[in-house]
Amino acid sequence: MAGTVIAANWKMNKTTGQAIEFARGLKDALLKNPVAATVVIAPPFTGIGALATEFKDSNIFLAAQNMYPASQGAFTGEISGEMIVDAGCRYCIVGHSERRRLFGEDNAFINAKITAALHYGLMPIFCIGETLAERNSGATFMVLAEQLKEGLNKIPTNDIKKTVIAYEPVWAIGTGLTATPGQVQEAHLFIRNLLSEMYREKEAAGIPIIYGGSVTAANIGSLMAEQEINGALVGSASLELASFLAIVNFH
Ligand code: PEP
Repeated sequence: MAGTVIAANWKMNKTTGQAIEFARGLKDALLKNPVAATVVIAPPFTGIGALATEFKDSNIFLAAQNMYPASQGAFTGEISGEMIVDAGCRYCIVGHSERRRLFGEDNAFINAKITAALHYGLMPIFCIGETLAERNSGATFMVLAEQLKEGLNKIPTNDIKKTVIAYEPVWAIGTGLTATPGQVQEAHLFIRNLLSEMYREKEAAGIPIIYGGSVTAANIGSLMAEQEINGALVGSASLELASFLAIVNFH
């Protein structure tokens, strides 16, 4: 049975001071009221060092929002997996639809990132999801299968256990449109079954499949009531402490 993961994707938001203020509030709240879920914060790169200090000896983990697959070299503006681990991250978001759409990342490049992340001991939070046009034309499962198979190409069974899959329908990200719990459950079941075919059933059962797309305190409860939904990747609603805490305390 997969564990629960609630991850905050802050995208390009928060100065270091703002990140520290949030981190202190989160840490205090979770010390007073611990939660069973694994809580992950993905700040911009500039906030990682400071938050690593804040979250030292806590149960809150850090994720980078992106990485470059090469280990070092002439890649101006890029950050390697080794640097991300060194800065204090346990996870790295890979394949987010904003990176696919705005920066032209394709499945092969995402596969290179996942491979490199695992090589450095980072746990990838691997995002997949269909556009509205793809859903409306009945192509959702085909798109999910292609992204999953190409993104996980040559990732061995031992490494898949360290991966989190985030189902993020593109039409639900930052739009206020949430997929219904039934739609998410259906997609997650498809992903779980495909993972069982690609790997062994036992390993597939242990992989957290989390949902992202306009998750809020108001809808997290009904999403988490579905058997195959193992958590959430939260954008907008993770920027305010009260709102993120309400999501983390979804029970
Ligand atoms: C995201 O960017 O991963 C996301 C899910 O954003 P939002 O919650 O704002 O839809």
